Amino acid sequence: MSRNTRAVIDLNAIAHNFQQVKKRVGQVRIMAVVKADAYGHGLAQVGQMLHHADALAVACLKEACELREAGISTRIVLLEGIHKAQDMARVRDLNLDLVVHHLSQVAMLEQANSGSAVNVWLKFDTGMRRLGFPMEDVPHIYQRLKRCHVVADTMQLMSHLSCADEVDNPFSQTQNQRFIQAVQGLEGPRSLANSAGILAWPECTHDWVRPGLMLYGISPLPNQSGEELGLKPAMQLESELISTATAAHGQPVGYGATFTCPEQMPVGVVAIGYGDGYPRHTHPLAPVLIKGKRCPVIGNVSMDMLTVDLRPCPDAKIGDKVELWGQNIAVPEVAKYANTIPWVLPLGLTDRVDVQYHGGAKIPTGIADYGEN
Ligand SMILES: *Cc1c(COP(=O)(O)O)cnc(C)c1O
Repeated sequence: MSRNTRAVIDLNAIAHNFQQVKKRVGQVRIMAVVKADAYGHGLAQVGQMLHHADALAVACLKEACELREAGISTRIVLLEGIHKAQDMARVRDLNLDLVVHHLSQVAMLEQANSGSAVNVWLKFDTGMRRLGFPMEDVPHIYQRLKRCHVVADTMQLMSHLSCADEVDNPFSQTQNQRFIQAVQGLEGPRSLANSAGILAWPECTHDWVRPGLMLYGISPLPNQSGEELGLKPAMQLESELISTATAAHGQPVGYGATFTCPEQMPVGVVAIGYGDGYPRHTHPLAPVLIKGKRCPVIGNVSMDMLTVDLRPCPDAKIGDKVELWGQNIAVPEVAKYANTIPWVLPLGLTDRVDVQYHGGAKIPTGIADYGEN
């Protein structure tokens, strides 16, 4: 293998983070959100690792199929439901739970009046204005769904928080009150909280929680790191130095010559760029880790490479490992420099990046060799 640019996924860290959710919510049931290739960590692998969750959640049929094809028999929730009546057959075949958020989907269930029962999650809007019935329609829709022969007896009731990561914003409490109000008198398990809801708004926990980001060891909260929350980063993105040199005082670096060396200094080139999914950010100071030292990225990130200031680590040489994010540099930190959100980065990696798995059933000793290679 010529290029040592890889994402090392620690499945045991994901299992640990799942346990951290469990510790926080006790008996409350957990729907592990594995949509978008498990946030870039590998849908089948993560699904396998978390098959003991009360349910797995995906965004679309394709993702649900992939889980079933991997032999995973865990309950699977289709978060957006289906968009065409003919998809009902598939839902039955794959034994999926359906979120129902729109009248068109109610009609599909009413038309499919024979066959096995389908678990339904009635979704309504408490302030996000994305998917879901208006709150005042909930009792009526609930009754309509109850009358559908294909809808299983127990109906779940759900909504979604829009500002749960804003720990000073009371809107989550407002949404929670609206949620409680809207489902008053209706039977069925309730679900409202995503990761930030679980961590910052425990009153939103109800009967089912839906963690995504935190399972991957990434904090959704601006004021607390993953480590402070007891989470372990699941992805280590690493590459290596492929060139080092001494640049002269006044020398420009990279496309557009956006960085000028303030003195004679060692610079290094790392084999990763935006063609791998590393953000082509404009902030000059995003750090990478080399030999335990944080070295800032300088100049513009290129497609295949980026340049770093090696002054913190002058003895660095070709072949030295470089951490872009993972154990020491948290994803939210890089996201901040890149002016984006943590959710975006791991799932933005391209196929060119090698993915290696540690932990899980095959390596009973866990992560003992982690980071040594
Ligand atoms: C993606 C998603 C989640 C998980 O959100 P995180 O912030 O990643 O924890 C939960 N619920 C729904 C409906 C989602 O779409």
